[in-house]
Amino acid sequence: MTTVDTQVTIRQAIDQLNQKEGFIPELTKEEREKRFESAKEVLTTTDKVIKSYLRVRRDDGQIVRIPSYRVQHNNIAGFYKGGIRFNETVDEGEVENLAILMTLKNALHRLPFGGAKGGVVINPDQYSERELFRVSQKYVQRFANDIGPTHDIPAPDMGTNERVMDWMVGEYKTIHPGENYQGSFTGKSIINGGAKGRREATGKGTFHSYWWLVEKWTRQHSNRVDTDKNDKRDEQIDYLRKLYEKSDRGEPISLAVQGFGNVGSIAALEAYKCSNLNHSVISVSDAGVTLYNEKGLDIPRLIEFARIHNNLPKTEQQLQDAGVEAEIRNRNEILTIDVDVLILAALENQITIDNVKDVKANILVEGANAPIASDADKVLRDQGRIVIPDILANAGGVIVSYLEWKQGRITELFTEEAVFEEMYNHMGDSFLEIFEAYFQESDFKTIREICYINAVERLFTLLYRHGKLY
Ligand code: GLU
Repeated sequence: MTTVDTQVTIRQAIDQLNQKEGFIPELTKEEREKRFESAKEVLTTTDKVIKSYLRVRRDDGQIVRIPSYRVQHNNIAGFYKGGIRFNETVDEGEVENLAILMTLKNALHRLPFGGAKGGVVINPDQYSERELFRVSQKYVQRFANDIGPTHDIPAPDMGTNERVMDWMVGEYKTIHPGENYQGSFTGKSIINGGAKGRREATGKGTFHSYWWLVEKWTRQHSNRVDTDKNDKRDEQIDYLRKLYEKSDRGEPISLAVQGFGNVGSIAALEAYKCSNLNHSVISVSDAGVTLYNEKGLDIPRLIEFARIHNNLPKTEQQLQDAGVEAEIRNRNEILTIDVDVLILAALENQITIDNVKDVKANILVEGANAPIASDADKVLRDQGRIVIPDILANAGGVIVSYLEWKQGRITELFTEEAVFEEMYNHMGDSFLEIFEAYFQESDFKTIREICYINAVERLFTLLYRHGKLY
């Protein structure tokens, strides 16, 4: 989804909110229309876009000039919050779109944060450790006055990790001595004040979002729900029940996971380990290869191989070294494998209008941000596939970031158990609200639309109560 797509979806969500009975009933029709137009204007525009060129010395002495960004979309719900990505193809539009998604994600999950995102235009694989350190340090030097524990709190995203956050905190502390620097970044290493479990949170939460729908929702709500909607939702409920029963009989639910980084590998591992339902991860992929085994892949061994080599095995010899049995296929084949569930945990725009017709999975889960292009999303909707959208599925990371930020502010340390308990409870509340609304709504809307309406309702209410809509 591009910035324009997200803005269109926000406008539509605001229009749908306008039709909601009993929402802000005190206003006259005219006042109401004005407020709704004003909300569209506020939520589809960005508070601040900061661009800076980082001058960084490469190890060979050459000086490079690297474009970098911090985009602060909106802070009506709390301090700006969102990751920093290091990626060669990132540009201002992408960072802005991701910042908007953060505003919606944080609003949807009731976190006290607004939305922001950062980007640095480099390929981190082509930079040495020392060079990455200098890039991280320079980034903080340039943006030090725009970020801070009660203003804008960055975190890891694609291409960055706890090591980068530690370097950034170090620089932040040098520039702002005496400040509560612990809360200035989240996703730090544990020794440096990071939350236990932060690294695994997004992957675990992504798997959990689908698992929750199939296991908890199907089991607890199967008798209560009126499935007579005469639309695709009837088929979806039947499908979810069949999936649950199939697994209950001991036949595994098949999964494919695109992307084997921090999100994909952990989501695959969760599926592999999940004891409540019977799963089989039959395919995984990374930037170089798709691996396939209809009987299921040995995920712990693949994770061990990827830890050492930084990628999945892509030759017969490497598979043998990893001790894994699998067929080697082209990297894009992952998207069209015949499976029950496809978890998209790589990049944006992976399912597009060109390949959507070949997608066979009935449930698609967005572990990455915006992996399904909006025209493809419409096709999936018309086909009645269940798409669990990014802002619902991949919020585990930012929810644990919130706990880390809180931990830094109250100078306490949460146990890993407490972190995951709180993350699952928090996500469970959001899932319950969204899936109930999705299945009970009179008209058929996608889960994404339901999430947007829910997030926008919170943002609208805050803007209205703060007197920001004219
Ligand atoms: N980059 C992650 C996301 O897209 C986490 C952001 C955060 O923890 O602030 O949700």
